[in-house]
Amino acid sequence: MTHTSSLAKLATVAAIALAALGTSVAAKLNVVATTPDLAAVAQAIGGDLVDVKALAKPTEDPHFVDAKPSHIVTLNRADVLIEGGAELEMGWLPPLLESARNPKIAPGAPGRVVASQGIRMLEVPTSFDRSKGDVHSLGNPHFMMDPLSVKIVAAKIAEHFAQVDPKSATTYQANLKRFDAMIDTKLAEWQRTLAPYKGAKIVTYHKDFPYLAERFGFEIVENLEPKPGIAPSPAHLARVITTMKSSKARVIIVQPYQNRRTAETVARQTGATVLDIPQQPGAVRDVTDYFKLMDYTVAKLAAALGAP
Ligand SMILES: [Zn+2]
Repeated sequence: MTHTSSLAKLATVAAIALAALGTSVAAKLNVVATTPDLAAVAQAIGGDLVDVKALAKPTEDPHFVDAKPSHIVTLNRADVLIEGGAELEMGWLPPLLESARNPKIAPGAPGRVVASQGIRMLEVPTSFDRSKGDVHSLGNPHFMMDPLSVKIVAAKIAEHFAQVDPKSATTYQANLKRFDAMIDTKLAEWQRTLAPYKGAKIVTYHKDFPYLAERFGFEIVENLEPKPGIAPSPAHLARVITTMKSSKARVIIVQPYQNRRTAETVARQTGATVLDIPQQPGAVRDVTDYFKLMDYTVAKLAAALGAP
């Protein structure tokens, strides 16, 4: 073989490899979710037909994500954007979208999924004053902690994937069916595990567990934040402590991005336990998808509420 022909052969091989790579990359839908929980559901529905990225880190507050130039690039290349909606991302997503200039994910486009649409929202305010800083203006946006809400979100994602990529519609439907069946099976299991603790009184830092409380029969008696997004004040914490003592609430749930020391101070004065229960897959090692996240949540709650 001459030098020239071996070079030519190498070039051909390289061209074939690149073409194959190009095809496989192009064949996958570029899906961007604002938060890792939505990304986990998108991955379950899309399987290997999608490449999913989350903008927020698992340890980041979904209301206050640190916007980066790389987010603009990611959004610019997206075929589908999945957002929580109900103004969850209001503080950081709109400027990124404006810079990304991507008509495929414009409001109303098949490539834009608003997860909150179709969810029965809790805590919808009858009147609202943004000047007070409340970040839950359209109702509580933390509905992913209710497995039945997640089924609604999964169905919406499957519907949009099929619109954007019609040739794979049957695969998305099959994945959705499997996901739904898994939710049904696991929900029954989670309900059995938590059944002994129905009516348990709990406290959360932010108002991020009402959907879970409603589904599993807990009562959230207080929040360390006086209003969603407003830092705890000494006067408010004094009220929380009084309520916790009279209601015998024994756990305070915190997220990785909340002030754990504040929770610990309140716990010391009330004999309560501070429970770290992140709402995002990936915040805890090996808790990588929605089912593992809920397994973890249920196990942590059962252990804390069942402790003598
Ligand atoms: Zn919130």
